[in-house]
Amino acid sequence: MEVGRLIGAGLLAEDGLAKSEGGRRSSLLRIPRAAGLIAAVDLGATSTDVALSTLGGELLLHRGEPGDVKDGPDKVLGRVRELLSELLVEEGADAREVLAIGVGAPGPVEHASGVLRSPPIMPGWDGFPISGAFAGEYDAPVFVDNDVNVMALGEHRDGVGKGEENVLFIKIGTGIGGGIIADGHLQRGSQGCAGDIGHICVDPDGPVCSCGNRGCLEAMAAAPAIAAKAKRYAEEGLSPVLRGVFDERGALTARNVGEAASLGDYHALQIIRESGRLVGQVLAILVSTLNPSLIVVGGGVANIGNSLLAEIRTAVYRRSLPLATRDLPIVLSALDQEAGVTGASVLAVEGVLQRS
Ligand SMILES: [Zn+2]
Repeated sequence: MEVGRLIGAGLLAEDGLAKSEGGRRSSLLRIPRAAGLIAAVDLGATSTDVALSTLGGELLLHRGEPGDVKDGPDKVLGRVRELLSELLVEEGADAREVLAIGVGAPGPVEHASGVLRSPPIMPGWDGFPISGAFAGEYDAPVFVDNDVNVMALGEHRDGVGKGEENVLFIKIGTGIGGGIIADGHLQRGSQGCAGDIGHICVDPDGPVCSCGNRGCLEAMAAAPAIAAKAKRYAEEGLSPVLRGVFDERGALTARNVGEAASLGDYHALQIIRESGRLVGQVLAILVSTLNPSLIVVGGGVANIGNSLLAEIRTAVYRRSLPLATRDLPIVLSALDQEAGVTGASVLAVEGVLQRS
């Protein structure tokens, strides 16, 4: 029996008995740690997360720290290798046990080559062979994808999207992006750009975006846009709360705006509502195109206050056909900081399985 051979080879382990459905109870199976390890890397614009997981996708160790992707590939990936080495030591393993490496990166990744192409917020990474950075230490294939695609995989594997066939994941952070799960599978499109919704135009006369165009969703609703509006309101003296924070710290972040809104600051609340409205406006187009059964909102800005999610819901429900939204929950990510590394490990496992 195949399962028996896999258990004998240490690639599967029995993990108790399943609930009886009449007849003999079957054994639950899991892939043991001894079968090998997966290294998962989640590069954010301002954070670096690495993790080790089993082949079954169970996270064993996870470490995250602030990082700046603008520091370029040598420095950022050098630090990733250091962190991975530390985790391997902690796990009592060595690099030879790593069977595959999954990497999420905050830019457009050409799926066939796993290489970033003209990433707007990643100077120095255009065309950089990320997989080569691991070649000296690891004898393992490296799979690279856009960070939002990777988070969508994570939410689908272990988060609120588990068991759902049609999920739209949207990340609102330094940038804005989407990941599309349709019929249970991540949709990448022909080059890998499917779901890259941050550069959809919402105002042709809007501010210039990092991509060079005007009025992209990202340029008007992501964290830097929220911070820039807050700074303007503070300087103009419209918001006493934001003014106070600005005078004290010399800068404002999206999180400060969320805090000011929770104190009842009218202008902070307006900034958040405007972001939610714009995001919802674009999501409504996707709802009409894809008819998902669930929308998951993640990323650093997602948690700045209930008013953001409320405004997104209002805009989506108002602008979509009733049939499409009759049973369409719009919820916050439950995995939060773990979505990226969970998804990167799924990416690596799926990559290995597709090759073999
Ligand atoms: Zn843009």
